[in-house]
Amino acid sequence: AASRIYNFSAGPAILPPEVFERAASAVRELRTNAHADDGEGIGLSLLEISHRGADFAAIHAKAVALVHEVLGVPESCEVLLLQGGASLQFAMIPLNFAVPKRVACYVDTGAWSAKAIKESVTLAETRGHETAVIASSKASGYDHIPALPEALPAASSYVHVTSNNTIFGTEFEQLPDVDAPLFVDASSNIGSRPFGLERATLGYAGAQKNLGPSGVTLVWYQREWAAQQPSPAGVPGILRYATHAAKGGLYNTPNTFGVLVLQLVLEWVRDNGGVTAMATRNQGKADALYAALDASSLFTAKAKPGSRSRMNVVWTLGGAPDDEREALTKRFVTAAAAAGFAGLKGHRSVGGCRASIYNAFPPEGVTALCEFMREFERTQ
Ligand code: PMP
Repeated sequence: AASRIYNFSAGPAILPPEVFERAASAVRELRTNAHADDGEGIGLSLLEISHRGADFAAIHAKAVALVHEVLGVPESCEVLLLQGGASLQFAMIPLNFAVPKRVACYVDTGAWSAKAIKESVTLAETRGHETAVIASSKASGYDHIPALPEALPAASSYVHVTSNNTIFGTEFEQLPDVDAPLFVDASSNIGSRPFGLERATLGYAGAQKNLGPSGVTLVWYQREWAAQQPSPAGVPGILRYATHAAKGGLYNTPNTFGVLVLQLVLEWVRDNGGVTAMATRNQGKADALYAALDASSLFTAKAKPGSRSRMNVVWTLGGAPDDEREALTKRFVTAAAAAGFAGLKGHRSVGGCRASIYNAFPPEGVTALCEFMREFERTQ
């Protein structure tokens, strides 16, 4: 029944219909091959089996293998499927890899970057590292990706960037080359196109946009590099990457359901041409939507050309005095919802509208939205 609604939610977000089917089937009864119909039923639901048993071990191993194969995460990286969301990584990163008297560098491109920075600043008070914001687009309302400085501060431990800014609708064309280990929060554009992920020393992504359900977070980092870092003092085991890695990613109970869905999503990406095919499809969707916005005198895209996200397209409604703008936006979002376009309300901190068009979002949904917007404008 839900298939008649185009879902523009920013996350948790749309997933391929086949994945919903296979995940539902695995909840009823897990098959030895959850991706295909040929496996044998094991007589138990995915939700009731041990994470230490052979059936889940196979799912976990397949998911990790697909992270390398489909997402292009180098084999030299440790891959962990953790809980706690991308937000836990904001804290785990400085806890594990900020070094006393050295500088943790951050690029501030939006609300999520700012939260990552805040955790580093908080921890710096007791741990003795420094936090430097080496570039920021805050002054212009985060409408673009700022240029990075020619040189980093001396004694930089790492440079942290957010590859795609979910709320403001901007993204790095390619991850930057920097003279320090590059850390990337790729939560909202991982797997959407090749953008240099293989250059990251550490990366992470909450699954609930392009990878699966909420409650599982993909983390990877260069194994040899990590082994050379000083062991941080006073960090509980659960918050150390090394603890999880030493137990093959199964130190404590993972989100078993989330791991299976992530496996199914990556199989869907692989079977549909991989990340390069996703890139072509995503570029087509984004181009159509930005063209409609740029051609309109009612709607205005927020992000500057050159920084525009292919995943989250953010716009405002203009042509009205400020006090009427909000009512107009509300009218548009309500009319769109009634016409079957769900989730177009912008983030509460920004206002306006946002269409999140992740990998699984169908191109025909964008065509239909552009048509609806033209009609809305014509009848104003
Ligand atoms: N980083 C980015 C880029 C995000 O879009 C989000 C969530 N929308 C987060 C971090 C926070 O993720 P979580 O809720 O999984 O902690």
